[in-house]
Amino acid sequence: MSDKVRIYQLTKELGIDTKQMLALLDSIGVEYKSHSSTLDNETAETVRQLLHDDSSKRAAGGSTAVAEPAIQRPSDPLRPPVVTVMGHVDHGKTSLLDFIRKAKVAEGEAGGITQHIGAYQAQTPSGLITFLDTPGHEAFTTIRQRGATVTDIAVIVVAADDSIMPQTREAIAHAKAAKVPIIVAINKIDLPQANIDRVKRDLVKVELAPEDYGGDTIAVPISAKTGQGIDQLLELISLVAELEDLRAPQTGLASGTIIESVLDKRAGVLATVLVQRGTLKVGDSLVSGEVWGRVRAMSDFSGARLQEAGPSTPVQVLGFSEQPHAGDRVEALASDQVAKALVSKRIAARQEQVVQRDKRAVTLAELFGQPKRQRLNLVLRADTQGSLEAIKGVLARESEAGDEVEVNVLFDAVGAPTEADLLLASTADAIVMSFGVTAPGSVKKSAERYGIEMRSYRIIYDLIDDVKRLIRGQVEPVFAEQLLGRAEVRLVIKVPRSGNIAGSYVTEGLIRRGAKARVLRGGKEVYKGSIVQLRRFKDDVREVATGFECGINLQNYDHVQEGDLIECYDLVEVRA
Ligand code: GDP
Repeated sequence: MSDKVRIYQLTKELGIDTKQMLALLDSIGVEYKSHSSTLDNETAETVRQLLHDDSSKRAAGGSTAVAEPAIQRPSDPLRPPVVTVMGHVDHGKTSLLDFIRKAKVAEGEAGGITQHIGAYQAQTPSGLITFLDTPGHEAFTTIRQRGATVTDIAVIVVAADDSIMPQTREAIAHAKAAKVPIIVAINKIDLPQANIDRVKRDLVKVELAPEDYGGDTIAVPISAKTGQGIDQLLELISLVAELEDLRAPQTGLASGTIIESVLDKRAGVLATVLVQRGTLKVGDSLVSGEVWGRVRAMSDFSGARLQEAGPSTPVQVLGFSEQPHAGDRVEALASDQVAKALVSKRIAARQEQVVQRDKRAVTLAELFGQPKRQRLNLVLRADTQGSLEAIKGVLARESEAGDEVEVNVLFDAVGAPTEADLLLASTADAIVMSFGVTAPGSVKKSAERYGIEMRSYRIIYDLIDDVKRLIRGQVEPVFAEQLLGRAEVRLVIKVPRSGNIAGSYVTEGLIRRGAKARVLRGGKEVYKGSIVQLRRFKDDVREVATGFECGINLQNYDHVQEGDLIECYDLVEVRA
């Protein structure tokens, strides 16, 4: 491959017209004479990325994580596996990570003291292994929720004296939903009350039958206290990694995922980046979500300074302007200018997305009405194990009878829906259904915020009926707008941090905090979203009635103008 590409060649490759290409080059400050001028490889790659960023229409949720990295090529070099350790509380996740860290990590420059940057690499006889060391599935799902998958293999820790517990089942559900291979580490086998066979029998019940129980799940007995079995666990991780044939390009501009970011009082923003493709170098410009930066310095988990880092390497990067979000993609770009251009483009795109997302809220119902749903993912909650079993039984029969639709219960448990259920539902595009239990208010609020469908039932057959309708596409809840009131914008007030507040006068009905709203300018809709804050003088209020003045803060909208008309409305479901 040659080092340079002519502008017209790239234009052709990307299928855009010359004018668009030249405008794009202008916008990122690239100098050229004509469309037959050449671009260096990095600039060309940046242009490709920018266009890709544009075309990858992301799902609602406002995440600025970029689409998954491109599929690996067989010619790419092998890379170390990235492992997450999950399991029930107190089953030994932290102990296992600590043991491996102490035993297998080369001493750092700082006298063997490794720093916690959210990930580390262990040297084993069969190769390097990268561990994400924020144990628990919180980290796993936060990252997944933002659209990225960084884990290649999930190690699920089960204590041999306790066997499978609720969070074990959650962890299994998460790993399965992410389609990540699972290795079970049966921990605490040093304890006299350890019962390995019981754990294995219980694994069969959750469809993870170990090899000696007729299945193909790898289950390794270990002790995070004595170290017994840990070498074998590491060997098996390497073996699974080999089967997975994990590869990534080692050259070119890097891309990866933010694992964690902290604000250090003295140093500034410190972000842990897991490099997934290419090589990250000191001096590279970076973009993650709506934040940009330049790598001023880089160190590994042992505190050693690095000049560059390749695939599967976790590094702590100094140089972001603000804190990037854990789970967001991060990309190296040709220059600061390009990075800044990309950030402003994304901010503009997000504002557009807010409007789109609102439209989507309405069409979500239509989505359920679509007949050819291939798979209906559910998170099930019920008051007793008995009702759960009953529901699952009927669902399984329905699923078999349904035409080409599979009902897939990702996770089921006794008790009210939790935040963890929402995380799972959001990463797997599932509906949370509960019978005989209702979610606490905080969970309901989160569900609303993340746009997750939650339904609760008092009668089993109502639940079943709904599922049937969802399967057969007969549910067509239609949302209709119900006007609550109107207000006129009389003054735009600039408030630091809160953005622009619309000082308004309510002319009709009432304005309610949390309700939907649109802004009309000259009869045309210029914004659609919701009211996040409502004020009378200095007080936050819930509602303001006709004839009163108020300050209205619209979600993600800063362009309100004097003379705009704000319409406030509710969406009500009307059954067809
Ligand atoms: P986590 O909540 O899953 O991270 O669990 P921890 O690693 O904090 O371990 C919980 C408790 O179990 C601690 O008191 C550990 O010392 C203990 N523990 C962890 N692994 C073992 C083990 O293999 N054997 C024994 N006897 N205790 C263990």
